[in-house]
Amino acid sequence: MAKRRLTERQRRQISAKKNQIISLPDSDSHNGTVITHHGKELIVSNENNETINCQLRQNLGTIVCGDHVVFSYTDIDSQPKTAVVIALTNRDNILQKTGFAGKAKAVAANIDQVIVVCSLVPRPNSYLIDRYLVAAENLPARPTIVINKIDLLDEENEHVVNDINSIYHSIGYRVIETSATRDTGVDELQSILADSTSIFVGLSGVGKSSLVKDLLPDIEIRIGEISQASKEGKHTTTVSTLYSLPDGGNLIDSPGVRDFSPIELNKEQILNGFIELSPYRGQCKFANCSHTNEPGCAITEALEKGEVNQQRVNSFRKMLADAGE
Ligand code: GDP
Ligand code: ZN
Repeated sequence: MAKRRLTERQRRQISAKKNQIISLPDSDSHNGTVITHHGKELIVSNENNETINCQLRQNLGTIVCGDHVVFSYTDIDSQPKTAVVIALTNRDNILQKTGFAGKAKAVAANIDQVIVVCSLVPRPNSYLIDRYLVAAENLPARPTIVINKIDLLDEENEHVVNDINSIYHSIGYRVIETSATRDTGVDELQSILADSTSIFVGLSGVGKSSLVKDLLPDIEIRIGEISQASKEGKHTTTVSTLYSLPDGGNLIDSPGVRDFSPIELNKEQILNGFIELSPYRGQCKFANCSHTNEPGCAITEALEKGEVNQQRVNSFRKMLADAGE
């Protein structure tokens, strides 16, 4: 197609519009949440849950899914509406994963809750569960544990469910048993998602996709809507995306969020992540206690007295060793 030449009048209109954007009055700023930001694609949802195609006016640093932004409309009559993002609001937290060449990469922001999903098959890996819990506590975000595939419960694996319930429930974590295929426990899961922005994490094969499909039966339609709003016209589930749930709350989902490998934490953060060990903080005989074999270690003593769980202390020590602390 031949390039259309602009008339003088059109040129003046565009230039006036540009000036307008630069000197927008405050009343023209709106709050929004980033649904997705990938390459040039930046989609924001407004107060009415409409998807808006946005551009960045200036470099505001890294903007990720879940970020709260201030934007100004550039065209409210177009379908979808278009806008420019003019500011990034302070974040509560940012989820970072270990990316290329060990560099931390931001994947999502403003997460209230981390749902750590495990299942009866494959069997739960307690160290991985603890790593996710520690990562969540340090975001900070509220962790919840889901044991999925509860339909496969039998005498032989019953102890797995009992152990998880007793270890994690006793230290204050909520444990929900679900079956994505039988739709068991999904109501309970839905109710704890209702007031927050959550992410699902866990091993591949535990049933995260199946749970997401139960919670968001119209996910394909949502993706279609985001694709329509996107200039690139093709949005996929591989890109971190914020979905509003039909019964309230938001879910941020992508393969990168689901199996993020938590960034390395220091000794202080690891201790902070084991919430039941906080009473013993600073109680060891030596200030630089490694909590392994020193005399007078408050954590070792707590273990001997049965105040803390052996498996959790094993995870704690392994995490310290893996971090080189
Ligand atoms: P993801 O990798 O964590 O997203 O797991 P998927 O949702 O892809 O599920 C992995 C496999 O487990 C699939 O074959 C599912 O059909 C199956 N699955 C998921 N949830 C359940 C469940 O509650 N019970 C049973 N028996 N199978 C399930
Ligand atoms: Zn100690």
